[in-house]
Amino acid sequence: MVRVRFAPSPTGFLHVGGARTALFNYLFAKNQNGVFVLRIEDTDLERSTLESEQSLLRTMKWLGLHWDEGPDIGGPKGPYRQSERLDIYRRMAYALVEKGKAYEAYVLPEELEAMRGKMLENKESPRYSHETIAQYDTPERRQEFAQKGWSPVVYFKMPQKEYVLNDRIKGRVVFKGGTTGDFVIFRSTGIPVYNFAVVVDDALMEITHVIRGDDHLTNTLRQLALYEAYQMPLPEFAHVSMILGPDGSRLSKRHGATAVENFREMGYLPESLINYLALLGWSHPQENEICALNEMIRAFSLERVSSNPAIFDSGKLLWMNGMYIRQLTPEALLEKAVPFIIETGYIAPENVDVNKKWLLEAMKAIQNGIHQLDEVGELLSPFFTDPIPTAEALRSLEDDRLSAAFKLLYERFDSIPSWEINEIISVIKAVVKDTKVNPKPFYHTLRLALTARDTGPELVHVVHLLGRNKVLNRLGRLEV
Ligand code: GLU
Repeated sequence: MVRVRFAPSPTGFLHVGGARTALFNYLFAKNQNGVFVLRIEDTDLERSTLESEQSLLRTMKWLGLHWDEGPDIGGPKGPYRQSERLDIYRRMAYALVEKGKAYEAYVLPEELEAMRGKMLENKESPRYSHETIAQYDTPERRQEFAQKGWSPVVYFKMPQKEYVLNDRIKGRVVFKGGTTGDFVIFRSTGIPVYNFAVVVDDALMEITHVIRGDDHLTNTLRQLALYEAYQMPLPEFAHVSMILGPDGSRLSKRHGATAVENFREMGYLPESLINYLALLGWSHPQENEICALNEMIRAFSLERVSSNPAIFDSGKLLWMNGMYIRQLTPEALLEKAVPFIIETGYIAPENVDVNKKWLLEAMKAIQNGIHQLDEVGELLSPFFTDPIPTAEALRSLEDDRLSAAFKLLYERFDSIPSWEINEIISVIKAVVKDTKVNPKPFYHTLRLALTARDTGPELVHVVHLLGRNKVLNRLGRLEV
């Protein structure tokens, strides 16, 4: 049974890089009918917060990345929050001490510092070993620790040999022997170190595949040594390349929004974000770009995950979001757009229902022009605010034929019996025909007069949605 995990540290919002890691784990698990575990790595007590954890969970749910086991729903291998597993880490650390593969260190921080200074002086890279640290493990020192209530840290005896990783994405990675000295696995505070906790958890949670960012590749050396020390089976590793900004440096805030939460606020749909993130490193066997989650699950494989870094192209994401928005029914679009409309203040929450018919028509009219839902306010503004006719609109009316056409248009709009789309179309067409006005400047001026903009939804829809009063009002002040 395939078991994978996403193991975020709750120290801030979920970023696109983390979301992509979560997505690849999710897709792999679902493709293999496996289990997707969510584990919260909150051993950095100073930086981890419950709010961050809650926001991570909320964002993952919003993206549709539902986990099968996790801190909120539990599961057979819990607890799923590292801060609730401290006893397990202690027990596991001392299991290694008993086997002679780890040891308690009674060295003081200043003594370590002095050792380090000496090694640097001798132009050696600072590295600790049992031989050097054990010299401080004297009965007197143990007594001193006991008296002062101090606990020793636990060091792992790092074997000085070569390790080879057969990574599912990176291929064969060789870690030369002797590059890493002994390292702390369990602190005197009772808190484990990341490389140790992650191995204990992945092993005890029976994780079969570790899919994560390649910023953890160097950590894998220590992790391989720990698996070996426990004689526990190795999971498969798949290290996914980083996401870069357009300038080729690692994606960061400098490149703009990176938190998934920001994209939600801007009006990105979870479907399009998921689709876009999947393509950052993975590609569909038929190179499909627009691809629903079910199809991604069906087609996903680690073999199609590239070992090259992916570039985050916000323009492409925007395009994709527009594609997904255009696929929505007007009802679905309205439902998603309502919070953004309310935010503009154009319609009060309690008036949404009574205006539903108008709003649905407005959604149909603006749907093609939306890339992010937060553009909805701007697209609707000509209907709710009174745009001032542009100088261009006024100037074009110095043309006699145009001015005559607008006069006639006013009269006919004023007198049509019902404000129906078909009637409006007939009136406009008849005016063009009867006055022989050049249609292009006529439509352009009409749009400028009604919306003070060059572009927007189809004119008949603008006219219809505005309603007769507003249309006559805006045409009237052109003073033709
Ligand atoms: N907590 C680690 C992180 O957020 C996860 C490391 C891992 O997946 O092994 O980067």
